Amino acid sequence: MAEEKRYDIVIVGGGPGGLCAGLYSARGRRKVVCLEKYLPGGQIAITGEVEDYLGFEHIQGAELAMKFAEHAKKFGLEIQMEEVAEVYTDGEDRVARCESGNIYRGKAIILSTGGSPIKLNVPGEQEYSGKGVSYCAICDGSFFKDRVIAVIGGGDAAVEEGTFLTKFASKVYIIHRRDQLRAQKIIQQRAFDNPKIEFIWNTVVASINGNNKSVTDLTLKNVKTGEKSTLEIGAVFPYLGFRPNTDIVHDEMKKDDGGYIVTDFRMETSIKGVFACGDVRAQLVRQITNAVGDGTTAAVAAEKYLEELEDKHARRT
Ligand code: NAP
Repeated sequence: MAEEKRYDIVIVGGGPGGLCAGLYSARGRRKVVCLEKYLPGGQIAITGEVEDYLGFEHIQGAELAMKFAEHAKKFGLEIQMEEVAEVYTDGEDRVARCESGNIYRGKAIILSTGGSPIKLNVPGEQEYSGKGVSYCAICDGSFFKDRVIAVIGGGDAAVEEGTFLTKFASKVYIIHRRDQLRAQKIIQQRAFDNPKIEFIWNTVVASINGNNKSVTDLTLKNVKTGEKSTLEIGAVFPYLGFRPNTDIVHDEMKKDDGGYIVTDFRMETSIKGVFACGDVRAQLVRQITNAVGDGTTAAVAAEKYLEELEDKHARRT
């Protein structure tokens, strides 16, 4: 049966930002819950290797995610597997309603909902999703041992995950719509040095084709010449970036042109008592390091907000 539960702080999303906010709030003796629909860790739980998080020269994303969750739980963070359907304000309460019917009421909410992969939106993408089209190299890479794999995109994720996929694939094509990568230089260099990787420049995917059971090839189009070609592959991994997950917020909230939530320096959104951290927030970089920084600030700011509310009530009585 659906329940209604009350907390000081409700955190929506269990990525690095949300878990770090949870650690700080729980350590500050607040009653705090983190609602996560899949695994704690968010994107890092499905990331291959992480080597740019200070103190960890080299660690698997899933292991780091587990460490984050265990650490936060040790200080008293409650993590619930819940899919949040809606976040709204009800007087002084900040409320998360879940698909399960459960309602979590807090005096402050911290949104750490991250983003979802951007789709190519070409024929065959949806049809072959899970049949050779995948958005998660760590989850699905090993299914394509000794096969030819295509990765689409030129950012950190495409180049890094393309390099990771060479562990399984006989060859990896990285197909990019321009002739310059957006990825960090160190990530680029590693891919350029990898003999299993070949770049296909100035090229987009026109369609993903298959035999009804699985993907067999891509129809490519050179954006400079208009020339079309066929590339035989066993799998394709589009890494085109993210779209922020903000659909659950129905109240009017300030966002930037890309739909990312705009906050002030305290991570507070345009709705009082609602904070945002990590990839869902408008900012220059989206890394684990700044997500945990955001989470720290959001937790401290939420604490100050609660203290102000409590002072206000104390003065009234
Ligand atoms: P991203 O940096 O936004 O890169 C997306 C790539 O996809 C770009 O190269 C873009 O091309 C291309 N693209 C977008 N739409 C396309 C379309 N319709 N057709 C073809 N190509 C398309 O996204 P990301 O790589 O997922 O990274 C997101 C954030 O996470 C970034 O801030 C990144 O630094 C961070 N990240 C960091 C690490 C790490 O440090 N280890 C790992 C992963 C992600 P253009 O370049 O032409 O725009």
